[in-house]
Amino acid sequence: MNDNMGGIIRQWTAPAASELGESVEEFVRILAGPTLLRIKGKDSSRLRAISTLLHGNEPSGIKAIFRWLKEGSVPCVDILVFVASVDAALAMPGFFLRHLAHQRDLNRCFNPPFDDEPGKIAEAMLAILHDEKPEALVDIHNTSGSGPSFAVTITNDKEHRALTSLFTQRLIHTDLRLGAIMEFSENDVPTVTIECGGAQDDEAHEIAYEGINRFISEENVLTEQETDWGLELLENPIRIELKEDVTIAFEEKAKVNTDITLPPSIENHNFGIISPGQPLGWLGERGLDCFVVKNTLGENKLTKVLREEAGVLYVAQPIRAFMITTNADIAKSDCLFYAVADHGGAIS
Ligand SMILES: [Zn+2]
Repeated sequence: MNDNMGGIIRQWTAPAASELGESVEEFVRILAGPTLLRIKGKDSSRLRAISTLLHGNEPSGIKAIFRWLKEGSVPCVDILVFVASVDAALAMPGFFLRHLAHQRDLNRCFNPPFDDEPGKIAEAMLAILHDEKPEALVDIHNTSGSGPSFAVTITNDKEHRALTSLFTQRLIHTDLRLGAIMEFSENDVPTVTIECGGAQDDEAHEIAYEGINRFISEENVLTEQETDWGLELLENPIRIELKEDVTIAFEEKAKVNTDITLPPSIENHNFGIISPGQPLGWLGERGLDCFVVKNTLGENKLTKVLREEAGVLYVAQPIRAFMITTNADIAKSDCLFYAVADHGGAIS
């Protein structure tokens, strides 16, 4: 392996199947830190890029890469693979931490200043993409809860829809800016983020593998096929966030002295339509004052999305919710779920 970018990201050119270890866990131990894999394709005049493991607890992308490299098939163009949060993935018990506790979430670090370690990794990744100019980038993730796959883009055009349809039939177009890689890589390369489904789900690993196989083997990945017209588009989801001091539990009945209790089965609502008559969970004395619900213009939309009746939480209008988490840490540090109107448009 060669050093690159001041040692922040190591490079490994043409890794041989025999050098990768016998399992994906061993492969990540061999990588040992943030790594850029360079794989030669049949046509070396062209280049595509994949990023995996921006979040250490989202293994579908790296599992797919490991499986593909072990098979030894030659891609149709040169491929760059970023394997980013290796330290977090290696922390025991493995593929468990989204990021190291003392560090920021890497996929919130792609905007300057780049003055801490995840910031420097993000800066190095963007510099490589800027210099190498791949024709497309797919960034592979898992959701923390179970649910179907979807893609996220900040640009809804033919190229991004074509990239999406290599993996999934559902596309979220967002104006939200969080410091994620796609917001900045987009300046140099059409980028989609792929959420393959739950980190524990074999189906999600299969979606990543099948999609990456199409991404590396199809002659043209940026032209819409006729089948792409079936894409389901969700516009400008709103984030349902929790105030900092809120307590939340995921249990079957209301927990005493807790601001919000939701049943673990709440994640079954992922991408389904929730109607205003359907009880979602229980609220404590603070009622709705636990939530922060603002659109990208900063307008308060709390009462457009949620309502309370006798200590029970309901939605205020029919909505489609997704990326529902049942992990209290993620609910508090990121958000509880995203929502659009039942027709897929933004909540107004
Ligand atoms: Zn992620």
